[in-house]
Amino acid sequence: MSPQRVTTVLFDAGGVLLDLDYAFVKRLLDARHVETTIEELSASESIARTTIDRRVREGGRASEAWRDYFRILLIRVGAPPDGTEEIIDTLAEAHHRVGLWTVAIDGALATVRALKEAGHRLGVVSNAEGRVERDLEGAGYAGLFETVVDSHVVGVEKPDPQIFRIAMERMSVAPETAVFLGDLPSVDVAGARAAGLTPILLDRHDLYASIDVPRLRSIAELPRWIASV
Ligand SMILES: [Mg+2]
Repeated sequence: MSPQRVTTVLFDAGGVLLDLDYAFVKRLLDARHVETTIEELSASESIARTTIDRRVREGGRASEAWRDYFRILLIRVGAPPDGTEEIIDTLAEAHHRVGLWTVAIDGALATVRALKEAGHRLGVVSNAEGRVERDLEGAGYAGLFETVVDSHVVGVEKPDPQIFRIAMERMSVAPETAVFLGDLPSVDVAGARAAGLTPILLDRHDLYASIDVPRLRSIAELPRWIASV
């Protein structure tokens, strides 16, 4: 399904606009004598993220998968299995206190600004813990989105199509004119499709080649993709 004419662009936050603060995770691991690099953490994160996708495909809730997600990420970079629960507790505490997804992804800010300058209407639909709007502002996105829907705040999470409807109602836009860029097939693609939007998968690490959906390797490709439909 192609959108009639794309005027509205909705974004997922984690993995699309915001990255995990790898420097923070690295400091936690350094303090526990686990040697890793930002690059290793980033590569492990992308693998760990597929856990959430699988959990939802199997009928679970995305918000229930985060401990498994961190466990896989940490063990892949060499954290000792018997020490990971303590690190996960520390990460969870930090996420509630200061946010862990706080770093603008390469190219994302420039792309969002370009789409706004081109006249598109922009919003965010995120499975989050109540602080994604603040974290987006802290990363430099202040003033760019008409609405930021945080699943914790509205009480419904992707892939439930209702969370996308909340964004569209707030913006008074029709789903046929909107695309949604997300990074998890079972959460973002399935949810957006069920709500009648055109889903686009941001697949930065080429993990989902077999999925039947428009797929971008970088968010920087989005303006050209929109212009081509
Ligand atoms: Mg995401």
